[in-house]
Amino acid sequence: QAKSKGKHSFCLFSLDDQEKMKYRMHLERELRKAIHNNELHLYYQPQVCLKTHQLKGAEALLRWHHSELGPISPAVFIPIAEETGLIEPMGLWVLNKAVNQLAGWRSEGIMLDSISVNLSLSQFKEERFVERAKDIILRSGLSPNLLKMEITESVALLDESDLIDKLNDLKAFGVQLAMDDFGTGYSSLHYLQALPIDYLKIDQSFIRQIHSDSSSHTITSFIIQLAKSLNLKIIAEGVETQVQLEFLHQHDCDECQGFLYSPAIPANQFQSLYQRMNAIHT
Ligand code: C2E
Ligand code: MG
Ligand code: MG
Ligand code: MG
Repeated sequence: QAKSKGKHSFCLFSLDDQEKMKYRMHLERELRKAIHNNELHLYYQPQVCLKTHQLKGAEALLRWHHSELGPISPAVFIPIAEETGLIEPMGLWVLNKAVNQLAGWRSEGIMLDSISVNLSLSQFKEERFVERAKDIILRSGLSPNLLKMEITESVALLDESDLIDKLNDLKAFGVQLAMDDFGTGYSSLHYLQALPIDYLKIDQSFIRQIHSDSSSHTITSFIIQLAKSLNLKIIAEGVETQVQLEFLHQHDCDECQGFLYSPAIPANQFQSLYQRMNAIHT
């Protein structure tokens, strides 16, 4: 409700901040519990080849359904996990779960080319992250080149050369690297030059406006061109309409992801979708 402005407004504002802080601390406690009680789940969103309309890969996305608060978005709890260090065990859990899921699928004839996992740059601060990641991949029996790691250049880096060394190490091991949300982050063109990446993911904000905003149209086709000339593969995120799909097809985009095909879904549903879309010819 509207309160009169003036001498009370400062006080009201800081109360609001206190509420937010309380809620955040509450979420942090709940997140610790959720990790402990295995209440986090991985869902999988299909990545589709634009030429063949076949399902090529899956992006693993974290889901948290709180018993009282309901579903909580990763956009809310990932930053909390990053600030509290919870992202380290959580990130390794995601990696382990995802590579084992793909290994399992492939043994059942679900021959995806890749599984994508999102990584926070803060995970790379942990000295033994690369070693642990390699260990998880080796133990799953999955060939490392079937794993794609997605990173977002959202923050200025404290130690860029350390990150580059670690990414080179993972790449030499065989892992593929993708730059997520391309076009929106901090200093993207610089990272394009500095990091050993294989894939660019065009941010969904450009795709969403392809047909309503001519600059999004121009930026999207420019990013595709840029990727091609740097020999990078390109994935469009957030594809929701046939019109967007056609635009991307015409501009020679490699793969797309979005609600047009499917949101992120549980593993068993993903398997059925694969069987429908990639009807096995014998
Ligand atoms: P992201 O990696 O860029 O993932 C794409 C987000 O867009 C996902 O949101 C996905 O559900 C949503 N999306 C996909 N297709 C469409 C579409 O057609 N329309 C719209 N409107 N949205 C679409 P989600 O799952 O809420 O994840 C948000 C972000 O949280 C992710 O962005 C990623 O940065 C982060 N995240 C999720 N899981 C993990 C994780 O396991 N580890 C880390 N470090 N970050 C994660
Ligand atoms: Mg991603
Ligand atoms: Mg993205
Ligand atoms: Mg993102």
